[in-house]
Amino acid sequence: MAARAALGRWGTVNAYCLLATDPLRQEAAEASSEQPSALPAFQELQFDDPKQAFQAKSTAQLLQSLAVFKACTIKPLVQNANTLLTASRRIAAPVVDHAVKHTFFRHFCGGECVDSIQPTLQYLERHGIRPILNYAAEDDVNNEFGCEGCPVAAAERKLDRNLDIFLRSIRDSDNVRNRAFVAIKVTPLGPPKLLEKISEVLVAMGDPSDRGHSSAQLREVMLPHLEPQEAASLDAMLRRLDTLCDAVVAKGNSRILVDAEHTYMQPAIDALAIRLQQRCNRSQPVVINTYQCYLKDAAARIERDMQRAAEEGWVFGAKTVRGAYMVVERARAAALGYASPIQDTLQATHDNYDRCVERILGAVAQGDAELMVASHNQASVQRAAACMHRLGLDPSTSGVYFGQLLGMADHLSFTLGRAGYRIHKIVPYGPVHETLQYLIRRAQENSDVLGGCGKERAMIRSELLRRLRQDNALARMLRPLTHAPPQTAAAA
Ligand SMILES: Cc1cc2nc3c(=O)[nH]c(=O)nc-3n(C[C@H](O)[C@H](O)[C@H](O)COP(=O)(O)OP(=O)(O)OC[C@H]3O[C@@H](n4cnc5c(N)ncnc54)[C@H](O)[C@@H]3O)c2cc1C
Repeated sequence: MAARAALGRWGTVNAYCLLATDPLRQEAAEASSEQPSALPAFQELQFDDPKQAFQAKSTAQLLQSLAVFKACTIKPLVQNANTLLTASRRIAAPVVDHAVKHTFFRHFCGGECVDSIQPTLQYLERHGIRPILNYAAEDDVNNEFGCEGCPVAAAERKLDRNLDIFLRSIRDSDNVRNRAFVAIKVTPLGPPKLLEKISEVLVAMGDPSDRGHSSAQLREVMLPHLEPQEAASLDAMLRRLDTLCDAVVAKGNSRILVDAEHTYMQPAIDALAIRLQQRCNRSQPVVINTYQCYLKDAAARIERDMQRAAEEGWVFGAKTVRGAYMVVERARAAALGYASPIQDTLQATHDNYDRCVERILGAVAQGDAELMVASHNQASVQRAAACMHRLGLDPSTSGVYFGQLLGMADHLSFTLGRAGYRIHKIVPYGPVHETLQYLIRRAQENSDVLGGCGKERAMIRSELLRRLRQDNALARMLRPLTHAPPQTAAAA
């Protein structure tokens, strides 16, 4: 019954938004209904014009982007980046860090500390783009699994240090004008083994699509299943998360974006995020949880959480992403012999992503939700913008944000900013040597021609050629060779 009601709601919203993105269906609807014709014409976003897209970029910036993206396509370099960096830093760390700082770091990160990221923040702001601060020092974070053998007290101290890092990024966002957005991961705040165990218990307790449902009494529900030390770790993790959220709430008008991670920990992360939403999202969605639409159960979980928010009286806040752990998820499912949680085809992921975005936009239009469309996929961004228009949501509405990463999809970000949409870029920062893991992930993401920077690279090349032609710089450079008068050439 509930499922049918949910399906009904999906059907209504999606049919409505599909009209917005299909011109033929839209025409037919406009002929048969009075309401759509009242809307002003939708200004299709023009992402494909390199001149427009990169007008905010200097030629030097474009050359740097092109070089970095090109380096990302060198497979042996990217696939072995971790080993290469570790080995070379053992021999000459300052030299390696210097080289990284002036290439990948300069492209994908804002700077080493909050002072040095200010020029980047100001540059983005001039072009209508707001930051999501992300202290990207992942040294401790990535070693978390390596801490398995270390004493519990040491592991907990490490998690407390991570809390300080996140608190610093919230404090640093004081320097950011406008609304401060901060991105966090849960794994640096609680032992991954514990998150995995909580997830197993939650899934075993009920319908997997209902996971996280017991979050209000998470502690009470979990205690009978935990060893004393694990219970103490759970309490410490809850305390860290509460401290973080209190810091964000105290700032007012800010948002904390909880990242989605591997599926074997995600039920616990969902439960913890919902617990924070119950606590902090009373009047506005301070805590925004992430939904990975490459997962087959994403739509059902969104529906469940929206329903739950309505029943419990808190504001639903969601960030939709496709998902970044596909390879690991599929390999794990194959190794352990369970069905892959990932959509079977890329097209199915695309379709699911757009459906989920449209469903939540419908709720935003009702004043029941806030959404960040976090994607570099041009078609999805276009569909979301068209759906917003159809639902009567102004580009600058405070309930819809677009999210992209610094150094990626600039042709989308700057166009969205110019058109008045609320566009945010994740601005990672931290000491160079501590951001290496983040940089490696970006390089790997961009080495994939399907999902990476293929189109952006082509557009940058075309814009560089246009500038060269316009400035006649190439012609001037080549003139001495091609048009030199014979006598001058002979004399030379
Ligand atoms: C602001 C922001 C925040 C983010 N936060 C998170 C987060 O919290 N958690 C997280 O996991 N990721 C996060 N991501 C990363 C995101 O999940 C994607 O990895 C990345 O953005 C690429 O997806 P896209 O929407 O940009 O689409 P595209 O550029 O079109 O990417 C498509 C890619 O999807 C992959 N893919 C997905 N499903 C399939 C399938 N069934 N078959 C084949 N390939 C498939 C392929 O690698 C393909 O290249 C975030 C991204 C942004 C921009």
